[in-house]
Amino acid sequence: YAQIAMYRAKESGRNTLSFYLPSMNERALERMALLDAMRNAMSAGQFELHYQPQVDLASGAVIGMEALIRWRHPRMGALGPDRFIALAEETGLIVPLGTWVLRAACAQAAAWQRNGLGALRIAVNLSSRQFKDAGLPQLIADILHETGLPAASLEIELTESLMMEDADTAVATMRALKRMGVHLSIDDFGTGYSSLSYLKRFPVDVLKIDQSFVRDIGHDANSAAMVAAMISLSHELGLRVIAEGVETRAQWDYLLGRGCDEIQGYYFSRPLCGSEFERLVRERGNVQRIA
Ligand code: C2E
Ligand code: MG
Ligand code: MG
Ligand code: MG
Repeated sequence: YAQIAMYRAKESGRNTLSFYLPSMNERALERMALLDAMRNAMSAGQFELHYQPQVDLASGAVIGMEALIRWRHPRMGALGPDRFIALAEETGLIVPLGTWVLRAACAQAAAWQRNGLGALRIAVNLSSRQFKDAGLPQLIADILHETGLPAASLEIELTESLMMEDADTAVATMRALKRMGVHLSIDDFGTGYSSLSYLKRFPVDVLKIDQSFVRDIGHDANSAAMVAAMISLSHELGLRVIAEGVETRAQWDYLLGRGCDEIQGYYFSRPLCGSEFERLVRERGNVQRIA
């Protein structure tokens, strides 16, 4: 079949041949190439974590950071998670990759704590595949033990859709993590099936208001009202609330006025590589009010 082209993939030292039809589009080809490259990227040390400061709004102090994965692809340059996380989830590669993220994030946070940066808390995003793995609580316990990071310094970010996939199992896993002292947050709140009954049922500590609401604070009264309501709701339920994607002084001031606990966003800082993050905290101090 002359029209069948071949795609050669190197996997665990052996050459395997995959076939594709010419009708497969560019995107599919790019996905295959990316997947092939991703298999070797972990052992080649091409993944790295960036850290975005989380700031206490009342004091302006950096009190933690979210770990965000980046892939330093040898030819394509730095790739953000939107380019490869979905593919990693489809193929299951997210499980070893996610384990690497957890270990690297906890090791970095523990090192910063030992080196006098303060009791910084680290937030780590979890994918659905990782969360469904029955061994997750034990894995996290092992990583905390290995790295010496206090459980209370780790915050696991989960999305609403992830929690809803199998709510009973999710609650059980969340309880196991809570018993260890790990904190749990709902990421991108307001974009999934936000149900108040689930909010009551899931044992979370933190609600992260999605950046789509924050973005519109200044020009859409409904978004501003929703943000205010989410802050009140969080506090009524005894949750801490973080606003994501804060880009302007006006958004910062609005959130401060509404009593939001923490912010994360370009207005304070973009995600930084480890050394830049460390420099920022040392230079500005982690107890300083920002201008
Ligand atoms: P997320 O967890 O909601 O992370 C916040 C995203 O918003 C990050 O994008 C961050 O760089 C971006 N961001 C922060 N401040 C601002 C701002 O002021 N304005 C705007 N426009 N954007 C801002 P990033 O790093 O590209 O990550 C995208 C998503 O990829 C994350 O969304 C998260 O869902 C996922 N992700 C990142 N790292 C990991 C990981 O290690 N594991 C898993 N499973 N998912 C990850
Ligand atoms: Mg997140
Ligand atoms: Mg988010
Ligand atoms: Mg997101």
